Amino acid sequence: MAVMSFMPVFSKREELELLQLHGLQWTVNHAYYNSPFYREKMDRHGVKPDQIRSLDDIRRLPFTTADDLQEGYPFPLRAVPFEKIVRIHASSGTTGKRKILCYTQKDIDDWAIMFARCFEMAGLNVLDRVQIAVGYGLWTAGVGFQLGCERFGAMAVPVGPSSSEIHCQMLVDLQTTVFCSTASMALLIAEEIERRGIRNKIALKKIIFGAERHSKRMRERIQELTGAEHLFDIPGMTELYGPGTGLECIAHEGIHYWADFYILEILNPETLEPVPPGEIGEMVVTTLRKEAAPLIRYRTRDLTRFLPEPCKCGNLLPRHDHILGRSDDMFIFRAVNIYPGQIDYVLSRIDGIGSEYQVHLYHREDGRDVMLLKVERDIGKSADGDRELAEEVSRAIRRHILVRAEVEILDYGSLPRTDRKSKRVFDHRNMER
Ligand code: ZN
Repeated sequence: MAVMSFMPVFSKREELELLQLHGLQWTVNHAYYNSPFYREKMDRHGVKPDQIRSLDDIRRLPFTTADDLQEGYPFPLRAVPFEKIVRIHASSGTTGKRKILCYTQKDIDDWAIMFARCFEMAGLNVLDRVQIAVGYGLWTAGVGFQLGCERFGAMAVPVGPSSSEIHCQMLVDLQTTVFCSTASMALLIAEEIERRGIRNKIALKKIIFGAERHSKRMRERIQELTGAEHLFDIPGMTELYGPGTGLECIAHEGIHYWADFYILEILNPETLEPVPPGEIGEMVVTTLRKEAAPLIRYRTRDLTRFLPEPCKCGNLLPRHDHILGRSDDMFIFRAVNIYPGQIDYVLSRIDGIGSEYQVHLYHREDGRDVMLLKVERDIGKSADGDRELAEEVSRAIRRHILVRAEVEILDYGSLPRTDRKSKRVFDHRNMER
């Protein structure tokens, strides 16, 4: 089946960089001359558009933050007149006001191309049937998947986050080949497929999921119950169009991101200087073509790292790792900078524990800081092995993160279920002083 390609055409890194430089210059000009917010910010920072002559000059530009979006509510960063705006989307906003972002028709078209590229990267063809189980509405997810699927040319089955009854019916009757949802929804449907004994009646090959933290074990369970050959993590945030700005590839080693649509910097969240390639830092994004609400050095607070080696799949688009947590969650314990993503990583490699955890930090009377790590025993495991399990977790933390942690094993399901933007570090140290 012949499929139109949505991949950018470039054969070397230098060609991509030239494309990025042109996009950066266009964006800075556009923002400076059309958005009072950016103009004021750049004037205050003492930088003019004509000073951006190389990609390194991006570091002359001031940062944009979530607070800036709240201050400009309900049309933050707007850089086009209202007659050019055709749509808005909003994120639920884990803290404070919703973030509302506006789009021109070109922004919507660009987003559709990026999303179609995701389906191409996942190896779909136009005969695929794509069941969309994420929410429609203000949220970018449902409409984004739909837009990309139609642009790609596959068949969209827009069910939304409906009952598992309807999902299972569509999986059987329409012979859906691709399922798009959050990770927990995928697990729910996988368990429902098992319960109903319909595994042999469905044709599911691929699952694309995002917007939520998920463990290696959760992926394995979904795959085992559905028989899907590939699971793909799709990153995305409303500020940067929505989901569809990158995708895990068929080699399953990190996420290729669409570097012809935005520049990704990975910076130390404290010093705001670039981290060495391969080290964890905060994702900071600058759009290259976005008209209505361009982003200039937007601090996402999401943590990840570059994967600098060429990918086994052969695609030249650069890669970053899965989202490893939030920079707000970084904490210092006995002079070591620790990101929850590192703890996640360690825990995901130990058998017998669930994927939820909490970190509690205390200051003891003898002056020492103590870390208490609460983790859940895996579903169906007996409490008899708790002591050994706690010791194993503690040893692994010491080996990989070089700190000592006390470990408490809890019953499965006793910690609150959270998404990857939720709080899991509780620092009680200052309160006690
Ligand atoms: Zn790849």
